[in-house]
Amino acid sequence: MTGKAYQKCINPDCGAEFECRAVTDGFKCPKCGELLDVRYNWDRIGVPDKLSDFSRRWASRDKPLDFSGVWRFRELLDFCDDKYKVTIGEGQTILQQNDAVAKYVDMQPGGLFLQYEGLNPSGSFKDNGMAAAFSHAKMVGAKSSACASTGNTSASVALYAHSCGLKCTVFIGSGRIAFGKLSQAMDYGAQTIQIQGDFDDCMRQVQDVCIRLGLYLLNSLNPFRLEGQKTIMYRIIEQMAWDVPDWIVVPGGNLGNSSAFGKAFHELRQLGLIERIPRMAIINATGADTLNDLVNNKKLVWNGGRVDRAVIDNYYADLTARSFSPHTCASAIEISRPVNLKKCLRAIDVCNGVVRAVTDEEICDAKAIIGKYGLGCEPASAATIAGLRRLRSEGVIAADQRVACVLTGHPLKDPNLTVNYHKERQGQFSNPPIEAPNDLEEIIRLIK
Ligand SMILES: [Zn+2]
Repeated sequence: MTGKAYQKCINPDCGAEFECRAVTDGFKCPKCGELLDVRYNWDRIGVPDKLSDFSRRWASRDKPLDFSGVWRFRELLDFCDDKYKVTIGEGQTILQQNDAVAKYVDMQPGGLFLQYEGLNPSGSFKDNGMAAAFSHAKMVGAKSSACASTGNTSASVALYAHSCGLKCTVFIGSGRIAFGKLSQAMDYGAQTIQIQGDFDDCMRQVQDVCIRLGLYLLNSLNPFRLEGQKTIMYRIIEQMAWDVPDWIVVPGGNLGNSSAFGKAFHELRQLGLIERIPRMAIINATGADTLNDLVNNKKLVWNGGRVDRAVIDNYYADLTARSFSPHTCASAIEISRPVNLKKCLRAIDVCNGVVRAVTDEEICDAKAIIGKYGLGCEPASAATIAGLRRLRSEGVIAADQRVACVLTGHPLKDPNLTVNYHKERQGQFSNPPIEAPNDLEEIIRLIK
């Protein structure tokens, strides 16, 4: 491949390559059915000698591509011309050092950082990926798009689709989507199809629908989306004065983020732009813990790309035989057949990663702590803090290490869970409203 970028099958025994303009069925390798990567001929791209060179774009933030938290790192995801690039101002996020939350997870002051991806335009990290994927959609001349979603993807797709003139249809499971997210999809004008089933059912349907109707698929099977999600790591490094943390902690659902982060660090190391790769912790919910089970119990590994397919096939066959449907209050990661499983195994290999699963109770308590002492987050995001607390108690992460937790979505994404947690006193940090008579003296007595 002679261009700046191309697509390549991740199966080392296949390794088929395609131009970036090629759109394969379901973004899978037409030769072997595996996932595709976006790869770069770095010597044809003017990548800066050092990451701090990207700082200069802060001076030209009147230009939309320099303002974008995705495209101001454009040399690191150089797969399309500027004329196709889509931005709605994504990636204006904050990395907050938070000592109060550090205390909750038993870490020393100064070492815990919270990356608030909920500050994106649609309120979740998905906007990073959509800026990239919709740019690719424009590059290939797509007119209509579709995705399956636990909620955040549908909100982000709907917002981007209409900002760049594409039609969009989103598939969601019935009764399995947080209200904030459903309200966004409808408000942003998406055609919303609620399928009787869970996310995994939606995922299977949307792939077939896209092939039959020629719609542009925006799930994280789409390798261009993951290119945008790499920039979350660039922004963390940027906000740490171009240094890398010791650990990245990320929720594990469809595993697009962990896959993208591992790829980002691998490329930065390859380019000599970082000296070491941070370790990564991926946190499942116990009710949707496929990755945790496969990695920790079945010992599934990347193995240079030759992943033991039989282990995965048997695991999924067992889920089917048991009619297993994942269940967690963290709806964004309520997924039992993660589409990016193999890329995630690669990321674990690259980042010397670990996987843990935490209970809904741990997630809800951690969420209340992030709300009380930080800027808040949706339930799935809080799996990071619950997981970090676990890894601290196990001694896997040391108290004096520097840890960045990716808080993927905004607290208003799932208001029902938050209201129930507090009003119904469901956890140890519940903060319910106090009922008072319409009487001044009584009210004054109640105020602490
Ligand atoms: Zn292949």
